[in-house]
Amino acid sequence: MRFFCVFCVLFGFASAAGALEREAFTVAKYDLEIRLEPEQQRLGARGKITLRNDSAHPQKIAALQISSSLNWLSIRVGGKAVQFVSQPYTSDIDHTGALSEAIVTLPVEIRLKDSVDLEIGYEGVIPLDTTRLTRVGIPEGIAKHTSWDEISPSFTAVRGAGYVAWYPITTESADFSEGNSLFEVVDRWKAREAGSEFKAELVASGVTGEAPRFMICSPGGQGPIAAMGREQQVSAECSWTRLGAVTPTFALANYQDQSKPPFYLFSFPGHEEGARKYSNALEPATKFVSGWFGQPSAAIAIADLADPNSAPFESGTLLMASMTAEDSKLAGINLVHELVHSAVPSSRPWVHEGLAHFAEAMYRQEQGGRQAALDFLGLHRAAFLDSEKEVAAATRKNAGKPLAVTFDETYYRSKAAYVWWMLRDMAGDDALKEAIRKYRAEDDNDKAPKYVERLIEAAARRDLGWFFDDWVYQDRGLPDFHVQSVHPWKTEKGEQFITVTLENLGNAGAEVPFTIFFEGGEITKRMEVRAKATATMRVELPGTATKIVINDGSVPEIDLTNNVFKISAP
Ligand SMILES: [Zn+2]
Repeated sequence: MRFFCVFCVLFGFASAAGALEREAFTVAKYDLEIRLEPEQQRLGARGKITLRNDSAHPQKIAALQISSSLNWLSIRVGGKAVQFVSQPYTSDIDHTGALSEAIVTLPVEIRLKDSVDLEIGYEGVIPLDTTRLTRVGIPEGIAKHTSWDEISPSFTAVRGAGYVAWYPITTESADFSEGNSLFEVVDRWKAREAGSEFKAELVASGVTGEAPRFMICSPGGQGPIAAMGREQQVSAECSWTRLGAVTPTFALANYQDQSKPPFYLFSFPGHEEGARKYSNALEPATKFVSGWFGQPSAAIAIADLADPNSAPFESGTLLMASMTAEDSKLAGINLVHELVHSAVPSSRPWVHEGLAHFAEAMYRQEQGGRQAALDFLGLHRAAFLDSEKEVAAATRKNAGKPLAVTFDETYYRSKAAYVWWMLRDMAGDDALKEAIRKYRAEDDNDKAPKYVERLIEAAARRDLGWFFDDWVYQDRGLPDFHVQSVHPWKTEKGEQFITVTLENLGNAGAEVPFTIFFEGGEITKRMEVRAKATATMRVELPGTATKIVINDGSVPEIDLTNNVFKISAP
């Protein structure tokens, strides 16, 4: 990367064009008409997009990118064709590993925060393509389980930015092999598009075969979830708002429809048993979610994937997952996740996704007890542990990713699940339920940055400012607890006590459970131990203490190897 930048500077001086700021413009609005011809794997698009200059300078050049298997046909401003140069641009943000980039010279310079409307046209094909994975050494057979997007006569499913740039995006090159660069580019894109809107009319023609075809759009706006056509043509009006939280996605297949609106269920012939597991799991999952999060209101959709090994995908309240390999436990958990999205809409990813993953863990607890839920959360810990270790080691300021604003999936899914779980342990079920019931997405905006904190504090009657500071507003890494000292003692009457001092070596505070084992039993208490601090508690015991174990797994810690303390006999 450093070498590349050296060249940037050199060429910057040499070239008249100067440096191209690829992320200067945000696409604030899409209004597209998409024609699909599955037999030819073709996609053709025309329509209007609105570019807003979000950079620090006036801009006259815009870089618009689509998948490298698509080609730019025309770009016009105010009805007049504008000059553009089309070139391939290597980037792993698209499944082909490259983009078709149009470098557009706008008729006038666009000032800061000003917008310009462009009429655009492009077309091409979207076949299955695993290039971005195979070129970093992932075998084709495995790569196609994740990279399953395609337009084909039997099954069409295409996900948006981050998978297939089937609509124009404006991004710097993303690289899979270079650490987190791909995720950083995608996160930046989502953050910039957080408030953008997308309207598309999708029309598939030349659809053949006896069975009806279903066209599905990922929900995320006002549009319908599915449209059905038996004839040669099937079309759907799709709309997506808050592009930061949803990935515009469409699918077209000869699904069997077992929908009971607002619950939509589409499966392939032959996958009846898996589909039945979802149908059967709906009632208990809805009951559980209603009890905690309120009545699910928006429609949810589960759509089948043909390949049983396909990685599942989720956007808004659409889940695409193969129903061949479904077990009933997983079907229940998947439904709980989508139903929470439906019950608690939010444009804050850590609330929207965090609550849904937290609910999955609670549903595990209902089925298999607290330990099952903590084991389930433990799988999430691995996702963000390395990143938090880097935060802990970083010397520069602002190295972390504050949960409140991050678009990093591992944070707003996995870390957020833990944060909600810890809030539940601290506030109690009833108080947290009350806070969630009072939550309104429209109130959770920048005008009230402490909105969620205030709701929970009011319900729990407890100051949680320190916790939100360490876990939500800032990224201070993770705590690291150990027993600093123990002091067993006896009263004159022979009652046994132990004084336990815990130390938190990390930069994030937490309330952590610890269990004292004694002859004939164990007792669990909880202690609030702030960052780089100690806390002490006196506990009465019916026997002589032998061992203390800190943290049952409910607090994500940086180091779990120092959590057991053996007490030697006096
Ligand atoms: Zn989700």
